[in-house]
Amino acid sequence: MEGDPFEVLGVSPRASWEEVRRAYLRKVKDLHPDRGGDPERYIALQEAYERLKEAYQARRLVQVVRERPGRGDYFLSFVELTVREVALGAERWVKVPDEFILCGYCGGGGLDPQGQKRLCDWCKGEGLIAEKGGIYRHVCPRCRGEGEIWLDPCPRCRGKGQLRREKEIMITIPAGIREGDFLFIPRSPDGPAIDVFLEVFVQKDERLFLEGEDLVCRVRVPFWKAALGGRVKVETLEGFEEIEVPRGLPPGARLVLNQRGPFRPDGQRGNLVLQFEIWFPNEYSTRALRLLQEFYEIMEEEYGGVARTEQ
Ligand SMILES: [Zn+2]
Ligand SMILES: [Zn+2]
Repeated sequence: MEGDPFEVLGVSPRASWEEVRRAYLRKVKDLHPDRGGDPERYIALQEAYERLKEAYQARRLVQVVRERPGRGDYFLSFVELTVREVALGAERWVKVPDEFILCGYCGGGGLDPQGQKRLCDWCKGEGLIAEKGGIYRHVCPRCRGEGEIWLDPCPRCRGKGQLRREKEIMITIPAGIREGDFLFIPRSPDGPAIDVFLEVFVQKDERLFLEGEDLVCRVRVPFWKAALGGRVKVETLEGFEEIEVPRGLPPGARLVLNQRGPFRPDGQRGNLVLQFEIWFPNEYSTRALRLLQEFYEIMEEEYGGVARTEQ
């Protein structure tokens, strides 16, 4: 099938199954040939939907382990998650190792056929060896009749003679994992061909970060709202919300929204902490600047250039 199924459906690769289904139901009406839709695009939509349905059905809940095993045969890599994915859990495509296949470049010998060579010391470059006391000669087993020995390891398979195929599988990442945890995906016939451990890294985000069990969200408040109070838009894990800031908001003030933070492994939630910062625009309109200047002069008169604390 052509094209990325997520693109065909117009959803993000991180979409939940519910979002995929809703997008499909919206599009299927518009594209239905009975209603004048393009039959080719209709078929592409059906195919994309079927493919995603299969992937979402086969998705597996990974196990979370605090440490990777010390020894044994496993594949270790990492996965980078957003703060939101860590806080709420997520569905994610990951590449995992599949079965081995023979390296086509070196034919499985593990040596580079384009690399350096030296003369075979068994057959002295002839490729054939005479049996002891006999008259028959047979193919030299050392150089397999080439007369030369390849010296460099194969660059494709790094001398192993075989390569791992990769496959993409969808995993369900439980909420409540933390940086440094490992996602364990056991080997299985429809999963990876070897046990997989993925170390979790959390993407750095200046505006949204974890602090223990809580999630801190930095909120910029324009200075006039910090001075006089007003409503500001804040991003919570459930989307945008408006909240009221009080008059005279001190810089660095925090507002704790109880149990609106990241999920913990036990299903409980931490808090969402809104950390306010006071924001000043870089530019002002002429009128705003004139008024600000006037305001400045009034305040200078009253306060005389010093900050006064309340008695
Ligand atoms: Zn090779
Ligand atoms: Zn030889």
